[in-house]
Amino acid sequence: MTTIFHKSSPGRKAFHLPASEVKETTLSFQRQSKLNLPQLSEIDVVRHYTNLSKNIYSIDQGFYPLGSCTMKYNPKVNEDIAALRGFTQLHPLQPIESVEGALEVMSLANDLLKEVTGMDQMTFQPAAGAQGELSAMLMIKKYFEHRNESQRTVVIVPDSAHGTNPASANMAGFKVKTVPSKDGYVDLEALRTMVDENTAALMLTNPNTLGLFEKDVIEISNIIHQNGGLLYCDGANMNAILGKVRPGDIGFDVIHLNLHKTFSTPHGGGGPGCGAVGVKKHLIDFLPLPYVKDNEMIEHHELSIGSMKNFSGNFLVVVRALTYLLSLGGNGLEKTSELAVLNANYLYSQLEGYDLAHDVPFLHEFVLSLSRIKKEKNITALDISKGLIDYGIHPPTMYFPLSVPEALMVEPTETESIETLQYAAKAFNELLNEDPQKLKNAPFTTKITRVDEVKAARQPLLSVHQDDD
Ligand SMILES: *Cc1c(COP(=O)(O)O)cnc(C)c1O
Repeated sequence: MTTIFHKSSPGRKAFHLPASEVKETTLSFQRQSKLNLPQLSEIDVVRHYTNLSKNIYSIDQGFYPLGSCTMKYNPKVNEDIAALRGFTQLHPLQPIESVEGALEVMSLANDLLKEVTGMDQMTFQPAAGAQGELSAMLMIKKYFEHRNESQRTVVIVPDSAHGTNPASANMAGFKVKTVPSKDGYVDLEALRTMVDENTAALMLTNPNTLGLFEKDVIEISNIIHQNGGLLYCDGANMNAILGKVRPGDIGFDVIHLNLHKTFSTPHGGGGPGCGAVGVKKHLIDFLPLPYVKDNEMIEHHELSIGSMKNFSGNFLVVVRALTYLLSLGGNGLEKTSELAVLNANYLYSQLEGYDLAHDVPFLHEFVLSLSRIKKEKNITALDISKGLIDYGIHPPTMYFPLSVPEALMVEPTETESIETLQYAAKAFNELLNEDPQKLKNAPFTTKITRVDEVKAARQPLLSVHQDDD
């Protein structure tokens, strides 16, 4: 691979600065040796990154049905608004009276997302869904400490949960216990036997990771609350239920949203995100600080868990989310969910020869199991995923959830046309009739074809030396 360091040539520059009029000073803690930066002309830098950008795949290039990721089209108007100088040129240490517009953005986003979730206050500080989960777990911990119920050290997580759920509970210092699922739903009988005076919370993804709405959520809420625990909603899949059901109305005490999924900020490359957390009244005092409410920055709370990120989090993600919320309106949000569910169900209806992991009604995504197909045709979930790349389609989420063998998790999202869904169905269907031996080497049309994944995992090459070829 040719990196930008390989293209470096001593003395080349992409910039020209006028001679400085300011006297040079020496800083303490200066580095001992010069920083090794590549030296290139402007056009070589532009070409290098433009060519790199062509080797990746994005939602602006094609269909991206990556389950549990909500790779919907992000309207460009969001970018236009987030790029306004009045937003991009703000400094977090500016006097508060000079940032009233920004306060209003956060305040309005707070009000609208309270309305969407049925919660009483939001924080936009967490930078990702997982950090939202961690914030909520820390709040729950502090809540019980404050009530002298520190013996509540256990968080229950269903076996179908996103891997971040048990990890977040664990990082917050809880013991994690797994409740099994039955036919894709939380097993109520098993749950009843697990809940006791040591239970702090249950983390429930709804709709769950199989795309199924947990139909017994009221019963689950009763089981948890009667035992004094709290109910956490992983709301990263809110795309399926906007305007249909509010988690705050059905027993959840706290929820995290992924503004960078449901509320349309481009994501996937590790860019800025926002795992907004919404809480009911009894948890407000524990929120990380600062947060915004009624155009005011709330900066002090004795019981706050502290700060999860500097200042108010990734503010421009909130600007995008607010743009999205205001441009769709309540009816638009409801329609979004209807189309997300319709598109998933339509795409599945066009597939021939595939099996659902659980043959029950699903919402915005569905999980296939290719176990039977693997036995009968020697075609695996990995083969189909790689084959889809040759059709210009990003693979679905593979081998997740772990409870499903040979899983493919498909989330088309609401922004795809019927023609795209028909094309995708054709691709899925044709791949099942491919020569399995040939499919083992797919993809054929990409710069790098089928890689040796075991070798990539066992002998990762994480740095490129300049004198390497
Ligand atoms: C994406 C996702 C998360 C984690 O969100 P990040 O922003 O990637 O940390 C958690 N739970 C579910 C169900 C998700 O889909």
